[in-house]
This record gives sequence, structure tokens and C-alpha cells, in this order.
Amino acid sequence: MTDKRSFTILGAGRSGIAAAGLLKKNGYEVFLSEENQEDSLKYFNKEFLLKEKIEFETGGHSERIYDNDVFIVSPGIPPESEVILKAVRLGKKILSEIEVASEFCKCPIIAITGTNGKTTTAVLTGEIFRNAGYDVKVCGNVGLAFSEIVSDLKENSIVILEVSSFQLEYTENFRPDVSVILNITPDHIDWHKSFENYLYAKEKIRRNQTVENLSVLNFDDKILRDELQNSNAAEAFFSIKNDIQESEIKRGCMIKNNRVIYFDKSKNINEIIMETHEINIRGNHNLYNSLAALISARAFDIKKEIIKDTLIRFKGVEHRIEFVRELDGVKYYNDSKATNIDSVIVALESFEKDLILILGGKESGNDYSVIDKLVSERVKIIVAIGESKNNIIEHFSKIVKCESTESLDEAVKYCKVNSSQGDSVLLSPACKSFDMFDSYEHRGKEFKKAVNNL
Ligand code: ADP
Repeated sequence: MTDKRSFTILGAGRSGIAAAGLLKKNGYEVFLSEENQEDSLKYFNKEFLLKEKIEFETGGHSERIYDNDVFIVSPGIPPESEVILKAVRLGKKILSEIEVASEFCKCPIIAITGTNGKTTTAVLTGEIFRNAGYDVKVCGNVGLAFSEIVSDLKENSIVILEVSSFQLEYTENFRPDVSVILNITPDHIDWHKSFENYLYAKEKIRRNQTVENLSVLNFDDKILRDELQNSNAAEAFFSIKNDIQESEIKRGCMIKNNRVIYFDKSKNINEIIMETHEINIRGNHNLYNSLAALISARAFDIKKEIIKDTLIRFKGVEHRIEFVRELDGVKYYNDSKATNIDSVIVALESFEKDLILILGGKESGNDYSVIDKLVSERVKIIVAIGESKNNIIEHFSKIVKCESTESLDEAVKYCKVNSSQGDSVLLSPACKSFDMFDSYEHRGKEFKKAVNNL
């Protein structure tokens, strides 16, 4: 990349603006081009662009974009869009912002991808390293862009990078010290065009890794176990279902007799880290996330006591089965990030029984029947809200007691009146938030406000 001198950055989102700043500061020619108008952009920072003397245009891409050698593309721009197709035809190199930032990175990188669990694992991994005394930067797909922080890294820094398949698609030399693939299920196929392409993009996280690097994989995910192309990296697996220590696997983390075990046969390490019930975040999905974070930490020789202590205290990431409050023996949980039915399955599996479930919002083709069994086993009452409330009531009323309310606030009040000691109230809507709220974060915050006002 660095032999090329001129860059066109497509998309003035947070990462595009940060990449423009980073490249300009390092002496490269930069042109930033944005399709939309300035006032519709959330992160547009005109003062910064003017101050740094970065050339830019908004409201459409002009022919000027094709003057430069390299295109840095925002994940929002699909590969078949006209600008990308033309750039490819003209022989331009297409890269993502993480590729560029990583070239300037002087400290180790732990990169985390997967269909689900990226943010939780990235934040948890960051907590462990912070408790071990590192200067931690969690960035990438979550809030901060990699290019925003890469110039501030210190000797004791570590970058925990959450990466999406979109960001990986346009990488070339990206080589993290540790790569983690949590799981892989068909997702974003409209963008990648096929499952094979999606898998190929995800796999790029480990493609350039060498024997000095580590690739961490989920053994219980058949595709990750059997279908990845070979990598030169050392491998470590995690599993909650299999005794992988008994297999030919050399290094990994697993659950045995309700204990978390870490082993590295080449170093004769076999340690019990903790009891599984001591892990604070709920559900099997979070066990996976915890084991992945644990392996990454052990790869840097972080002591097991620090890892254990962090897992005991880590409260999870906001809006993901987040414990809010206990009132009159009833526990309230905010899972507003559950915008689809798969996330609700994961949430319901994290509770044994006596749930009061708040469902509903803006629906996109939900097949509620996939949770019928879990609902009949674990849920006492469904409270439906939002645009989809009638569909929800119609579907579930044969299985469980259902009620609908006009607002989330009313739903919370209804739960208070109709719950009894030992119950859990869970907002896990299975729907997007845009019918009643600005975002899932907004919905989650309003839920917490309502619960705290009870
Ligand atoms: P991502 O950043 O990949 O979207 P998050 O950590 O934000 O993942 O979690 C989003 C949702 O995905 C959670 O609310 C939960 O429903 C589900 N989830 C989290 N971790 C996992 C996992 N390891 N396996 C399956 N589902 C998960």
C-alpha cells in the first residue's frame, strides 16, 4: 500500500474521515468523496477536513475520484456498485480502512470477527487486557475507527479490533497477531452474493498470519472446524460441547464438569481457570465469547487470576441481556440489541423459566414459530408492543398468556403488576426499533429509564 501515493476515500463516515486524516498526516495525497449531502451525514466534520487541508466533495462522486491510485471504501458501499466496478475496470487497488490503519500500527492487534458476538468478545477481551495493565484500544466496527487511534498507540498498547466481513473483504496484507472467528452462519449474503464469498471474506482474517501468530476458532462450529483453508498460523480452539483436550488439538479452552479448562500441550499447560457459574454474563453464547477472550489473553501470558477476576466482574455490553435492576424479587433485563429472532433464541436459552417477555417493534419477516417451544417452556407472559403487536398476539395467544400495550413504558408497568418473586422481565423484541424509537440504543435506554422509575 505504502508505495502508492494517492488515495480516494469513498464515504465520509467515521472511518472514512479518520482514514483521510491519517493518510494526509503521513504525507499522502487524499481525496474524500461522499455520495450524500453534508447535512444527512452523522459524523461529517467539515472543520477537521478544512483544518487538515483534505480535499473533499459531497452530494455525489465526480470523475476526480478516478485520478488516484488506491480506493478506500466504506463498508456501506456494495462491491457491485457502479463506482467500485469502474475503479476495478481502471485497475485501481481497493482497500478497506482497517488495512490502511494496520500498516501504521506499531503494537499487537487482536482481531475478532464472526456472525454474532463480536462486540461482546471485543469489549470483554479489552477488559481483561486493561486489568492486566495494558493500554487498550477497542475499535473497528464498534464506535471508534482504527484510523482514529492508531497514531496514539504506546509501547504497552494493544488494539482489540472488531472486524466485519465487509471490512475484511478489501484487505490485502492485514495480519493480526491473534485472529478470532467466533461463529459463521449465513448473513449479509445480499452484500457478498454467496455464502462462499462471505466465508472467504471472514477467512481473510487469518490468511496472512504466520507461524508466530495465533488463529482462534470455535470447534463447535462445523464450518470453522472443517471447511477453512489451511493457514500458517498456530491454531487454538474453544468448545463448550466437546472434550477437545482428548483430541489431537494442541491448544484450546473448553468446559469439563462445569469448569473452564485451558490447555497448551506444547507447553505442558493444563489449568482450571474457574467454575462456569462464576462467569457473570449469561447464556451459552456468552460462554463461547468468554472462552475466545480467555485464549487471546493466555496468548499474551496474562495470568489466569486476572482473567478469572474479569470474567466474574464483567457485566456485559449495554443492551445485550443487560441486567438492569431487581425489584420485589423480580429481575429486569435489557436485550434491546435483539432485533431479530435468532437473538431472541439465544436470550431465551439463557433463562430457565419464569420469564415475562416484551416483544415487538418494526418487523422484518419474522417466523415466530421457531421460538414456540422455547416460549412454551420458559415464558409465562408475552407483552407485545409496536407495529408488530397484533401479529405477535395472534401467533402466541394459543401458547401463552399475551397482552399488548401502547408504549414500552406501559409494558414495563404491566410487567411490574403481573410479575411475582423469582420472575425475570426481559425486553428482547425480535424487531427493529424504528417504529417507536431512533435506534435499538434509544429503545434500551427508555426501557431502563422506565424500569428505574418503577
Ligand atoms: P455482534 O457485534 O457480532 O453483533 P454482539 O456482541 O453485539 O455481536 O451481540 C449481538 C447479539 O448476538 C446478542 O444480543 C446475542 O443475541 C447474539 N450473540 C452474542 N454472542 C453470540 C454468540 N457467541 N453466538 C451466537 N449469538 C451470539
